[in-house]
Amino acid sequence: MGTLIGMATAKGEEFMPQQFVKRDGAVYPFREYKLELVFAALEVEDPGKVAAVTAARLTGKRVTAQQVEDAVLATCERLHLTEARQRYLDYKEHRAQEFAKQTDPTARLERLVKGDPTIIHENANKDSTVFSTRRDLTAGTVGKTLGLTMMPPHIAHAHLKGVIHFHDLDYSPLEPYSNCCLIDFETMFRDGFKIGNAEVERPKSIQTAVAQIVQVIASVASQQYGGCTVDHIDTLLAPYAMMNYAKHQHTAQKYISEKESQEQYARERTVKDIYDAMQSLEYEINTLFTTNGQTPFTSVGFGLGTSWASREIQRAILQVRIDGLGKNHRTAIFPKLLFAIKDGINHRPEDPNYDIKQLAIECATKRMYPDILNYPPIVAITGNFKSPMGCRSFLPKWTDEDGREVNDGRANMGVVTLNLPRIAMEAHGNQELFWTMLEDRLQLAHEALMVRVKRIRDDARPENAPILYKYGAFGMKAKDGESVDRFYNHDRATVSLGYIGLYEVGTAFFGPNWEHNETAHAFTVRVVRVLNEHCKRWAKESGYHFSVYSTPSESLTDRFCRLDTQRFGKVRDITDKEYYTNSFHYDVRKHPNPFEKLTFEMEYPHYATAGFIHYCEYPNLRQNPKALEAVWDWSYDKIGYLGTNTPIDKCYKCGFEGEFAATARGFQCPDCGNHDPQTCDCVKRTCGYLGNPLQRPMVHGRHEEIAARVKHLSPTMAHEMASHAQSKQRDVRGGVADD
Ligand SMILES: [Zn+2]
Repeated sequence: MGTLIGMATAKGEEFMPQQFVKRDGAVYPFREYKLELVFAALEVEDPGKVAAVTAARLTGKRVTAQQVEDAVLATCERLHLTEARQRYLDYKEHRAQEFAKQTDPTARLERLVKGDPTIIHENANKDSTVFSTRRDLTAGTVGKTLGLTMMPPHIAHAHLKGVIHFHDLDYSPLEPYSNCCLIDFETMFRDGFKIGNAEVERPKSIQTAVAQIVQVIASVASQQYGGCTVDHIDTLLAPYAMMNYAKHQHTAQKYISEKESQEQYARERTVKDIYDAMQSLEYEINTLFTTNGQTPFTSVGFGLGTSWASREIQRAILQVRIDGLGKNHRTAIFPKLLFAIKDGINHRPEDPNYDIKQLAIECATKRMYPDILNYPPIVAITGNFKSPMGCRSFLPKWTDEDGREVNDGRANMGVVTLNLPRIAMEAHGNQELFWTMLEDRLQLAHEALMVRVKRIRDDARPENAPILYKYGAFGMKAKDGESVDRFYNHDRATVSLGYIGLYEVGTAFFGPNWEHNETAHAFTVRVVRVLNEHCKRWAKESGYHFSVYSTPSESLTDRFCRLDTQRFGKVRDITDKEYYTNSFHYDVRKHPNPFEKLTFEMEYPHYATAGFIHYCEYPNLRQNPKALEAVWDWSYDKIGYLGTNTPIDKCYKCGFEGEFAATARGFQCPDCGNHDPQTCDCVKRTCGYLGNPLQRPMVHGRHEEIAARVKHLSPTMAHEMASHAQSKQRDVRGGVADD
């Protein structure tokens, strides 16, 4: 054996193969570390040396997968590694069988019929007991298996192994669906549009405008798989509210003689119309059921309008949410509310909409939403101000040929997420190897993302999704048969490289408590920066806006961790938690205060520009809303997008209000043990969105992650912060109390 190894090292660098050709023709750099991983997996002693011996057998600049396989077997024979040889052959056989199974719709449908929880609880927004949802899951199961056969096999294998995650396989690439979008309502309202067989004209009141918004959302949500956003709804709807006002004024002039009373009548009636319209928006969205078998993932952005009508619309959105749904006043899960905060509008006590910010704070303490969008950091990170598409997907600033800045009507082409903890564990503490492996995985992710781009670019036609391409939801109008490429190319749309588990990456190299270690922090920032640099290069080469996305990973937190546990076993503080930490988030088991947590997290979004969200865990804040405002104010110039997690669970059986207890089977009332969704309301943040875990059970890992979350603020600290903030505000305004 000694001589063999001598031969291997004597061979020298210049004779090493440079390229590795996969069975499907994909060309990657040749890496000896991969051979080492293979031999390590085969439980061979000194896998590094055996890998070197194997590499020495490979001649020529380019080697094929078959040549490498032959070399591995030959090495095993030469070194009498009989068991390893058999394991290798078994593994190959097993993998081929597994691939056949995963790409066979019948096998997967069987799992669905048997109620495999990893299939039926994948999306917390889908109620898998309902016929239409079951039908969607059936279609999705077929989509998943066939979709895998529509991409180069090495990408499908990488997805199945959990090296990468090709999101939304149930829809794409089987059909050339797009992901999420900001709907261009201005264009649709202005020009009128068509849904099904109905021609819809410009609305003439706020009620009609809202009815149309709901119709459009239902239609858009059925033609894509991701979330959709109605941005700046306050300024969008203000002109229609003013039509109500004009109508009421007209009536008043007819029946009321006094000018002042006329005005009062018109205003009061309009305010009532606005509230009713926003209430029906909330009810209708929550009762919608799209062809995807779920309530559409919807977000509503507002907060920057200062006209009388815009202010009333903002106020109504928040008041409706505070009031709650139905006789039990349940917390609405949809739409997600996104409240914009800007200096000169609502940030400071002297700003004209400061009163609405106070209402937003009250709403967040009672219903968790709205999440806030701070104006300056959103501009600094993404180039201009806009709400995210769906829960957290941000578009970059973009101008059309006429130099007009356009946000609405743009979309995302889909996500592929890298399993970063896997790379960190495979690198075994070797940082140099980590970066090399990351390069290879990035090539893989890029190829997977190009599958998404090409599928839409080459195969989608306007007639596939008329509402998107023909009637203005995507901002422009195309004719049947035309290419849809102009909706996506030249950076108009985004395509997202996702990642998960920076905490686990840091832990693999620096131990579990690395948050205050500057070298460790810089290392993880560098990871996101490297992803960002690659995206920029891919965008330049292709004309499609690749960008880095902090994946919500509602079920991926579970999937990657589960697959890595099969591979590496229970690794302390990495896989033994049974979930991976979301994107760049602080370890949820620790309790930094909100300022520490946000300071730790604030640098990452500047590289993960395509998607990010921060949140803090608070105790009950209803008595101390000023504590929440203190965090919001502190975050104003630092954090773009911030959510509030606070206990708002309610038991209608015993009257308990607060935080439901997390048990092994799920959440329940801590006083009476009630967990019947009919008689209680339990609301948790499942990803960027809120969810009802009792109505729609979550995947195991997500439950573990939520159960592990600890508060970033103690009730005492909340109280102290609130009093401090209040006295500070009093000082600023010369002793005038604000409420
Ligand atoms: Zn109870």
